[in-house]
Amino acid sequence: MKPPRKLHIKSYGCQMNVYDAQRMVDTLAGDGFVETSSADDADLVILNTCHIREKASEKVYSELGRLRVAKDAAAKDGRDMRIAVAGCVAQAEGDEIIRRAPVVDVVVGPQSYHHLPLLLERAAQGGKAIETEFPAEDKFGFLPQPKSDAIRARGISAFVTVQEGCDKFCTFCVVPYTRGAEVSRPVEKIVDDVKRLADNGVRELTLIGQNVNAYHGEGPDGRAWPLGKLLHRLAEIGGIARLRYSTSHPSDVDDSLIEAHRDLPALMPFVHLPVQSGSDRILAAMNRKHTASDYRKVIERFRRVRQDIAFSSDFIVGFPGETEQEFSATLALVTQIGYAAAYSFKYSPRPGTPAAEMRETVSAADMDERLVRLQELIDSQQSAFNKAAIGTTVDVLFERTARNPGQIVGRTAYLQPAHVMASPDIIGQVLPVRLDSLERYSLLGALATVPTARPQRIAPSQPTIGA
Ligand code: SAM
Ligand code: SF4
Repeated sequence: MKPPRKLHIKSYGCQMNVYDAQRMVDTLAGDGFVETSSADDADLVILNTCHIREKASEKVYSELGRLRVAKDAAAKDGRDMRIAVAGCVAQAEGDEIIRRAPVVDVVVGPQSYHHLPLLLERAAQGGKAIETEFPAEDKFGFLPQPKSDAIRARGISAFVTVQEGCDKFCTFCVVPYTRGAEVSRPVEKIVDDVKRLADNGVRELTLIGQNVNAYHGEGPDGRAWPLGKLLHRLAEIGGIARLRYSTSHPSDVDDSLIEAHRDLPALMPFVHLPVQSGSDRILAAMNRKHTASDYRKVIERFRRVRQDIAFSSDFIVGFPGETEQEFSATLALVTQIGYAAAYSFKYSPRPGTPAAEMRETVSAADMDERLVRLQELIDSQQSAFNKAAIGTTVDVLFERTARNPGQIVGRTAYLQPAHVMASPDIIGQVLPVRLDSLERYSLLGALATVPTARPQRIAPSQPTIGA
């Protein structure tokens, strides 16, 4: 028997890439690869890249510089180290990567990673292997299922891709070019994946997609199911205590999604709903397909059915031509909505996108200054949101042991980390916790009930427990 080969995989960017990395590990497990945490002793290093902003792309080339040294050192020891670049930089730049960094053996786009074993074989025969096509077949049909021990090792919280690609074409964004057109996976395939995860201890599921609420996968009745209906179906699977989904587009929030929030206790009242800007002129120039007032109305629809719902968002400052007044409209929107958390970015022109051709610019100094002001406002809202939890008793899903001995850490419905002193037996359980204090972003508290002696396991196909 051949000794196992070591695989080191480093992911950049979004949740989609975290999920993709796991599926690459599952694919290569069939070829005898086992994961290692260090690049230096790996036989194969995969950089799973992100192209969304210039900084994210450039990180790849500096990492490849470091890997060249590691590859040379391995060769001196008589070892053959292969290097693959996967993900959205691979898709966008293709063979340009090998021209800039000849140390790379394989370049593989996000729609082709089920071909990795084949591409590695081709590279082993002395050449370079590049695949950045959008193949006709659906990669999900070819990806091996994760093994039970791999699922268990990944913990009680899992991502499942239900939708990929994007047809929205926001003028600043590379996703429609790197991930391709919007496709939704069939309901039954997702249900099979989720049952398998639940049978192996997964309690929390986050459905992911670049534009997840555009989901329209084929249901068992042959019709296209919206995301809300899919969530209803998944909530019936025994063992799944919490459901989440990310990332949504405001224009694709339909009644089925609102009804799911009204009817499903397992669907967490925390929604990531990017808006990007509070100015209608900028939103139109971004081709966002909604106004600030449309966005406010969507938020209201959620709030009407779940008073305890909270939101996070994404913002871009310094989009071409953004005036001080237009930026103020963003601050006004943030003040009005009140977020539990949010991400804000300086606009980064991406080659091939329509916004990159726009001639007006915002100076670097103005962008920096706007980002600081926006982040101060968001931080103050986040901190007020977290402080408001002190003194309350909330459900926490426990995930793992914490760094401090004796502490177990879990998450509230709003993804706030919550620490208690308890036995590791509570991992996997949803238990009420009285929150006593806040340390930076983490809440500290105590269990409000005596936990059951052993981890809670729910027999498959029993009804879902609400968190
Ligand atoms: N699909 C989501 C949506 O509808 O907004 C987000 C996708 S993108 C991976 C995540 C975030 O990156 C975006 O919401 C946007 O704020 C930011 N982003 C995308 N392109 C950008 C660019 N060219 N410059 C700066 N930020 C960008
Ligand atoms: Fe990019 Fe999101 Fe716009 Fe699609 S909806 S183009 S992923 S920002």
